[in-house]
Amino acid sequence: MANVKVAIRVRPLNAREGVDGGRLAVQVEDKLVRIKNTKLDGRQDVHGDSREKVLEFGFDYCYWSVSPEEPHYASQEEVFQDLGVSVLAGASEGYNVCLFAYGQTGTGKTYTMMGTQDSMGLTPRICQVRNRFLEIYNERVRDLLRGRERKKKDSLRVREHPEKGPYVQDLSQHVVSDYKQAVELLEEGIANRITAATHIHDASSRSHAIFTIQYTQAILENNLPSEIVSKIHLVDLAGSERADPHYCRDRLTEGSNINKSLVTLGIVISALAQNSQMSSSCQSINSVASEGDAGSTVGSHTSSLSGGGGGGGGGGRRHCFIPYRDSVLTWLLKDSLGGNSKTIMIATVSPSCRSYNETLSTLRYAAHARNIVNKPRVNEDASV
Ligand code: ADP
Repeated sequence: MANVKVAIRVRPLNAREGVDGGRLAVQVEDKLVRIKNTKLDGRQDVHGDSREKVLEFGFDYCYWSVSPEEPHYASQEEVFQDLGVSVLAGASEGYNVCLFAYGQTGTGKTYTMMGTQDSMGLTPRICQVRNRFLEIYNERVRDLLRGRERKKKDSLRVREHPEKGPYVQDLSQHVVSDYKQAVELLEEGIANRITAATHIHDASSRSHAIFTIQYTQAILENNLPSEIVSKIHLVDLAGSERADPHYCRDRLTEGSNINKSLVTLGIVISALAQNSQMSSSCQSINSVASEGDAGSTVGSHTSSLSGGGGGGGGGGRRHCFIPYRDSVLTWLLKDSLGGNSKTIMIATVSPSCRSYNETLSTLRYAAHARNIVNKPRVNEDASV
C-alpha cells in the first residue's frame, strides 16, 4: 500500500502579475504551503466573506521556484533529484510509476514535465528505453509519434487486457538505445501536439499528453532468463480551468464540451480519496490544518459524486464506485489511481495574489489526491 505522493511547485511571477508590486499570496515552508487572501482588502469574496484568511496545507514536497536568487529556490535539477529519481527507482524495482502534472494553464506544468531548451524538465531527464507518446483531446486518443509508422489512424481505441490493464490499441512504440534518441522522439511528439492546435498555448491547455516509457529489465530467475517490465507514465494534463463549467461556457471553439477527462479525473480522485479514508479510519486525514471543506473544489466539478455513497458519517457508508471508464484519461491511468502503481502528482501554482482562487482550488485538489492509496506490486513477465 502506498499513498499518492503530492508535490506543489510555485513558479515565478509573470510580467502581468509583477506590475502592481507583485504581491504574493503563497508561502512555502518545508512541507507546508500557506495561502493568504490578500486580494480582498476589505471586500467580500464569492462566499460573501471579507475576512483575510490564511489556509495551510501539508504535502510531501513543496518547491519554491519563484526566484533563483532566493536561498530555498528549487531548480529543475532539484525537482528531478526528488521526483525523477524516485520514478526511476520505482521502475527499476519493477513497479509501474505515474507522474502527473496538474494545475491552471500558465502555472508551469509543461515547464516542469518537459522544460525548455535551456532548462530541461522531468521527462527528458527520465527518458530511457521504449517510448510511446499520445495525446487525449476531446476524448479522442491521437498518437503523437504516428508519422514514424506506415499505419496511420487518426483516433485510436482504448482497450483493457484482463491482467495487464488498459492500453491504447495500435499506438506506435519506438525503441531507443540512448538518451539522445529518446529526446528526439519527445521533441517530435511535442511538435506534433503543437501543430495540431491553432494556437501554441492552446495545445497544452486543452489536451492531455501522456508519454509512456516501457522499462524492461532482463533477469535470471532460477537460472532461467526472464523479464521485469514496468511502465512509466509521464502526464502533462490540460489546464485545470478546463474542468470548470464557468470557464468553458463562453468558449465557442469548444462548444459546450468541457474537458470530460479532467472532470472525470476530479470525480475519480475524490471518490478514491473518500474510499481510502473509509478504509483506514485511523489514518490521519491529509494535512489540511484550518480547512473546513477541503472537498468543495473537486466537489464543485463533480456533482455526480453526491449520490455516490460519500458524505455523512457512521459505519453504514458504502465504498464509492470509481468511474474509471467514463473518460479516456482515467481509463488509461486506472492503475495509476488506486491501482498497481507508485504515483506522484505535481501541482503547479502561481505565487500571485491575482490567482488566489485558482491556487486555492489546486491546493484543495492536490490535498484530495494525497489521500489515495495505491497497491503497487512488482511486475514480472508482464509486457503489453
Ligand atoms: P502550463 O503548462 O501550466 O500552461 P507553462 O509550463 O507553459 O505552463 O508555463 C508558463 C510560463 O511560465 C512559461 O513561459 C514557463 O517557461 C514559465 N515557467 C513556469 N514555471 C517556471 C519555473 N518553475 N521557472 C521558470 N519559469 C517557469
